[in-house]
Amino acid sequence: MAGKIEVGILGATGMVGQHFIRFLQCHPWFEVKWLGASDRSAGKKYREATGWRLDGVMPGSVGELTVGECKPGNAPHLIFSALDASVATEIERAFAEAGHVVVSNSRNHRMEPDVPLLVPEINPEHLKLLPHQRRRRGWRGQIVTNPNCSTIVLTMGLAPLLPFGITKVMATTLQAISGAGYPGVPSMDIQANVIPFIAGEEEKMQQETQKILGEFTGEEIRPLAAKVSAHCNRVPVTDGHTVTVSVELTAKPQEQDLLACFDNFVSVPQQRHLPSAPPRPIVYMPECDRPQPRRDAERERGMAVFFGRLRPCPVLDWKFVVLGHNTIRGAAGAAVLNAELMRSEGFFD
Ligand code: NAP
Repeated sequence: MAGKIEVGILGATGMVGQHFIRFLQCHPWFEVKWLGASDRSAGKKYREATGWRLDGVMPGSVGELTVGECKPGNAPHLIFSALDASVATEIERAFAEAGHVVVSNSRNHRMEPDVPLLVPEINPEHLKLLPHQRRRRGWRGQIVTNPNCSTIVLTMGLAPLLPFGITKVMATTLQAISGAGYPGVPSMDIQANVIPFIAGEEEKMQQETQKILGEFTGEEIRPLAAKVSAHCNRVPVTDGHTVTVSVELTAKPQEQDLLACFDNFVSVPQQRHLPSAPPRPIVYMPECDRPQPRRDAERERGMAVFFGRLRPCPVLDWKFVVLGHNTIRGAAGAAVLNAELMRSEGFFD
């Protein structure tokens, strides 16, 4: 264990908190040493405070840790956050103010202009917002966020197309029930059904996409000027968000140009061999009926995005399907990759 960076998890008892614990098990750089949750859990052993909802058993190494209150003090410098959105704003801010690096999965700070909404394959340079964040707010620490679980899938599908000039995007989601946390959507509502509404989700997808694909100007992020329209649906799938996308591009690329872009897409996490980076962040599937959530979402440890069904769109220019694991690439795994990118930039030296 020598040389590992100690980390804490805010909201460790919840669904995403559990994904953090599982994802960080045996991590080569990070070791979970501290857990925080609400008053209901504080003071209890993790195994008593937590109803373990993931496949397999709770990692023994965390079961005996005592859950703390979500207050800075004894927590490690690097903190992952999986806090309920009703409390994340104040708690994450308090930790950043006290000098912690908060790598958050909650939505609360994502759209603040000086907070990076980071996808290491797409916008690693957005980390340059952090000195501005510290200066403006007078914090010793900082907050970095990852996107909403459907936005990350969409933006990974769009990122290779940026050189062609994206002007319009129409995206329709088929979102897994695990995205609603536990116990989630009542079974009477979701079995053999589709629910064509997820509160706040369409707005998040539209705004977050423009920020993630935006350009760092030296001071702030200039959002991508493309129009983005999202339709969000909850479907009876356990894990894996599918997004069907139509896109208009300024340059009018041919199919082989697009396929080459997707095929050759690697970025900073792959070049730096970050431990959680999939070797190929976007995996093209030529089969006409793939990707599928049950068959593909878990591949590559849930960290790759699967892309298929590229074909001309009679309304915009091209259309395709993209799929990603919502609680791994869309939540805990995304935040861990963000922290790995930060470590590779010397943030924790
Ligand atoms: P969850 O299962 O309800 O867990 C919420 C966590 O927050 C629990 O650890 C809970 O502790 C803690 N908490 C609640 N009230 C608190 C308080 N007053 N003080 C301190 N801690 C408190 O929620 P989740 O599904 O894991 O989601 C966590 C966050 O990730 C949310 O912001 C959500 O929007 C976001 N997210 C979720 C997903 C997903 O797929 N589920 C995907 C992306 C993003 P107790 O157990 O002690 O109550």
